[in-house]
Amino acid sequence: MTEAIHHFIDGKPVSGRSTRTSDVYWPMTGEVAAKVALADAADVRSAVESAKAAQPGWAATNPQRRARVMMKFVDLLNRDMDKLADRLAREHGKTLADAKGDIQRGLEVAEFACGIPHLLKGDYTEGAGPGIDLYSMRQPLGVVAGITPFNFPAMIPLWKAAPAIACGNAFILKPSERAPSVPMMLAALMIEAGLPPGILNVVNGDKVAVDAILDDPDIMAVGFVGSSTIAQYVYARGAANGKRVQCFGGAKNHMIIMPDADLDLATDALIGAGYGSAGERCMAISVAVPVGPGTAERLLVKLVPRVESLKVGPSTSLDADLGPLVTKAHLDKVRGYVDLGVSEGANLVVDGRDFKLQGYENGFYMGGCLFDHVTPDMRIYKEEIFGPVLSVVRAKDYDEALRLPSEHEYGNGVAIFTRDGDTARDFAARVNVGMVGINVPIPVPLAYYTFGGWKRSGFGDLNQHGPDAIRFYTKTKTITSRWPSGIRAGAEFSIPTMK
Ligand code: NAD
Repeated sequence: MTEAIHHFIDGKPVSGRSTRTSDVYWPMTGEVAAKVALADAADVRSAVESAKAAQPGWAATNPQRRARVMMKFVDLLNRDMDKLADRLAREHGKTLADAKGDIQRGLEVAEFACGIPHLLKGDYTEGAGPGIDLYSMRQPLGVVAGITPFNFPAMIPLWKAAPAIACGNAFILKPSERAPSVPMMLAALMIEAGLPPGILNVVNGDKVAVDAILDDPDIMAVGFVGSSTIAQYVYARGAANGKRVQCFGGAKNHMIIMPDADLDLATDALIGAGYGSAGERCMAISVAVPVGPGTAERLLVKLVPRVESLKVGPSTSLDADLGPLVTKAHLDKVRGYVDLGVSEGANLVVDGRDFKLQGYENGFYMGGCLFDHVTPDMRIYKEEIFGPVLSVVRAKDYDEALRLPSEHEYGNGVAIFTRDGDTARDFAARVNVGMVGINVPIPVPLAYYTFGGWKRSGFGDLNQHGPDAIRFYTKTKTITSRWPSGIRAGAEFSIPTMK
């Protein structure tokens, strides 16, 4: 029987008012496993009302007690890791091991949020003037929201919800309608950890729910992750309504392979970062840039057999390298890009378009594809494909290799593989991209640093998680106080200065 997934409001699953639904697939078999409710504006409003009623009490709960809820939540994530990973893998398509990584990377941000008593401390200056003390405090915004993509159903909701909640806000999560189960499970675990009802509400839905969030006057801030076109739309509409907004978008991540690089290391890196999670990662490597004469040939000798022998399997298989793509529509889109690359004149060295998995003929599988001789004018280079497709763009020298990611419209992540410290240091300083790996293919910073791309990969001025998350989900108040109050300076008509 097909499961029905509704919303999670006021501490429990609730059916909404809207009767619209969307199919949720299990990509490894292709079956419709559930129908998820698609909220209308009234459903969003009921989540906001619940959040608004609960938030003042939560903000008044001291930070150490809020941290304890987060600590308990981390324990529960560890307790339920296998169950969460199993559902995540089935609904998204990624392998079980990768699904655990998805949860773990979210859990680490929840661990960071356990430090909230320290993270919320303000500044204090005693004696800034005669009898004057100056100090600042960070206060929660109130009700805030997060809109998240399909490809990290645990990690990205937790990157947003954990810091926002620890700061004393109430959080409304609108997860992807393609992978809604795990966000619902996370909300139930938060309640089990002791979070008061209403502080984390999950509203499932599509554009209708997103627009209702963006237009709701009681939602003070919106964090978004998804494709760049929608990111820009959410940024513009949220900001026009006076909200604080940060939006993270798509990517085209390059990996530069210098002539002196360890090519075995570089090949391992390209295989994992290019094809892991079937390329459905915003930090996947989708462009390999071998530099200088002969480097491409030396690299391809190692790379081609590895792409040809990738193990594509069902998400629950323990030895698959990658699973299926998320939906049939997405599979068709990715295959369409491979067709396009062929017609644009790129050399398709490995063709995984017709891959079929025996026993899983209706699953959304595709084998790894590898293009050589891709050039910057081709659409397969310019656009995000988001599938197991790697393009080799040959650069004649370092300067050309540095220019490629720097001039690309996306600027999420980039990597350089080299044994030369001078080159690595120069690259890290000059490349026009937000996150850089040196002999590291997926440079996702740890929870206590911040994550964010540049150019069309990020809209807004603060990053995700780390100290920026605390800044994003709080407002700063600065207090100038004079004690004893009786110090008289007389009436001052010009602006006070320190002269
Ligand atoms: P998407 O843009 O289709 O959807 C993201 C969210 O927006 C979902 O919650 C969806 O319901 C909502 N949405 C979709 N269409 C909408 C519309 N027309 N109006 C309003 N809301 C809408 O993205 P996706 O396919 O779920 O995720 C993949 C994309 O996310 C890729 O581009 C990937 O690079 C990007 N991504 C970026 C990061 C990052 O941190 N930069 C991280 C993960 C994924």
